[in-house]
Amino acid sequence: MLDSTVEHGEKLITEAELRKRFDFWIRHLRLEHWNFELRPHEEPDGDEQEAEIIIPADYDYGQIRFNKTWRKWSHSLIDEVLVHELIHAHLHKLQVAAMDGSRGFNDEAAAMYMRRLGHEVEHAVDALTIATLRNVLGLKDA
Ligand SMILES: [Zn+2]
Repeated sequence: MLDSTVEHGEKLITEAELRKRFDFWIRHLRLEHWNFELRPHEEPDGDEQEAEIIIPADYDYGQIRFNKTWRKWSHSLIDEVLVHELIHAHLHKLQVAAMDGSRGFNDEAAAMYMRRLGHEVEHAVDALTIATLRNVLGLKDA
């Protein structure tokens, strides 16, 4: 995790800045063909989540929601969260295909399979997020 909140004296993030960073990452991650809605005024479902991406159907559309603290995040945390959620978009179809692998499992086996899959996807997304931040921003210790 990068520095999580603004240092004393640093300005709060504006919604315009958030959208500008979002557009920057869309280009760098080659997701221009997706239709995204940034929803900075809607909270993610989980309490501890900084953000979440919701992809309601199997086509290239996603909504990204942010924890209400986002205005106080550092610029590096904003970048980290945006890249993380956008990499989820890249992996979405792979995840849906993998979820199909639990068809025919009983409830307990399906739940175990989905937990494992979710864990592995998060692990891959985290690693790809760090690699992207390092490669695009030239960060050495992200
Ligand atoms: Zn995630």
